[in-house]
Amino acid sequence: MTVQQQASVDGEALEVWIDQDLCTGDGICAQYAPEVFELDIDGLAYVKGPEEELLQARGATTPVPLPLLTDVVDSARECPGECIHVRRVADGVELYGPDVE
Ligand code: SF4
Repeated sequence: MTVQQQASVDGEALEVWIDQDLCTGDGICAQYAPEVFELDIDGLAYVKGPEEELLQARGATTPVPLPLLTDVVDSARECPGECIHVRRVADGVELYGPDVE
């Protein structure tokens, strides 16, 4: 994942973050979208940056690349810990994940 078009809904950019406090470490997200998610040595999942570097800060946010939107959304839906959050960059409103109203 290098220079890719960022995913959007109705033209709005999206980003994703993980609440590591709830992560079970099962690795489903890393199977669905290994370009975006990876398990660190602590056994928890973290997001990757645009150059596929692992962002090891808890709750770190990364842009959702457009070609991977479906995989990221599927990850959020299947996540057993209900801890993958996909939100709109502009206002932080969650569009996919446990906090969607
Ligand atoms: S799918 Fe959810 S619970 Fe499983 S490793 Fe990924 S973030 Fe953690």
